[in-house]
Amino acid sequence: MTSSIWHPFHQHGLDEPIPLVSHAEGAALYTSDGRRIIDAISSWWVTTHGHCHPRIMAAICEQTEQLDQLIFAGWTHQPAEDLADELVRIMPRPLDHVFFSDSGSTSVEVALKMALGYFANREEDRHCILVLEHSYHGDTIGAMSVGARGVFNRAYAPLLFDVEAIPFPTPGAEQATLDALERACARGDTAAFIVEPLILGAGGMMIYSPRVLAEMRAICSAHGVLFIADEVMTAWGRTGTLLACEQASIVPDLLCLSKGLTGGSLPLAVTMATPAVFAAHYSTDRAKQFFHSSSYTANPIACAAANANLAIWREEPVFERISRLAERQAAGLEQLSIHPAITNPRQLGTIIAVDVAATESGYLSELGPRLKAAFTALGILLRPLGNSVYVMPPYCIDEIDLGRIHESIIHVADEL
Ligand SMILES: *Cc1c(COP(=O)(O)O)cnc(C)c1O
Repeated sequence: MTSSIWHPFHQHGLDEPIPLVSHAEGAALYTSDGRRIIDAISSWWVTTHGHCHPRIMAAICEQTEQLDQLIFAGWTHQPAEDLADELVRIMPRPLDHVFFSDSGSTSVEVALKMALGYFANREEDRHCILVLEHSYHGDTIGAMSVGARGVFNRAYAPLLFDVEAIPFPTPGAEQATLDALERACARGDTAAFIVEPLILGAGGMMIYSPRVLAEMRAICSAHGVLFIADEVMTAWGRTGTLLACEQASIVPDLLCLSKGLTGGSLPLAVTMATPAVFAAHYSTDRAKQFFHSSSYTANPIACAAANANLAIWREEPVFERISRLAERQAAGLEQLSIHPAITNPRQLGTIIAVDVAATESGYLSELGPRLKAAFTALGILLRPLGNSVYVMPPYCIDEIDLGRIHESIIHVADEL
């Protein structure tokens, strides 16, 4: 089949097959040629409760009969009002202000602009941004600037702004991270530190301890450096708690949410901010307002989907499903870890990851695409990060499908 579509993160020159999916339900995707594929990565980390959740789909249908889209600069609508109220209610205090956008990358751009605006409006000369080594925050220019540099952004490097990378807190070597952060914060020109709390997703599912996260937050607080938590991947129960930050008992100054915000059904994001960040932009002077908008900010249909998602969290035993999934993942990981070709087994909440023995490593290693093709042939959607294979399924996945995912990894490791 020829198509004019240019796919993301895809090398068309390799002629790899592109499956056509016609429908989905729960943890399963169905291709137009009749195959059932288990979605082991929640369609790139977005689907939380399962595909086509009836309550979310119904809320979307209902909203389409009321209001489709509205300018959001100086206008409002009930789905956004309800969503903001509920987010403020369930997210930790004092994240009292909700700014809408439409993707994880944009929620990060918004957080960075708010941090810079905060200091500019207070007439403090702070503009340096600190990042954690190996991080990923999205693919727009600002989000790439605060992410790890590599083959994925080498061509665009001239456009990326300078940041200072703090070494990843490798277990056992955490003090080096804290010392570097302390030094950078003490300099006085630092505006903000952006982190993926507890686990670096695209960086290869690299896990670090809640204690370090708490200490990093404390260092930033002590120096008046804004702490930005990018929970685009980690929120909505992935790590076992609603937010990963909860496990360190910390509250960031700015919180980025997207992916699971609508249960994974429609694009929507928010950046939540403390009263201090909001207050720095609050004035009778229009020049101090926050200068950011995109056309689809707080799209009513996406907000309705998010409200339905939050109702599921309120009314259904989501945390029970999450702990059951985490237990089954732990049992599967134990099986995987005894395989001679499998190393570095790790788990955080519902996420497990392993490395498969490879002579080559890195994102462009030939192994990744070979593994991906082998899993697809077994009816499993898995997309390894180089030689790291991770499983992050929707919470509705049953024991049989999860078992098949774990078995397929063992099968593929056997072949190596
Ligand atoms: C996926 C991701 C993003 C980017 O989100 P998009 O919606 O793809 O723009 C940002 N930060 C983290 C931690 C992510 O995992």
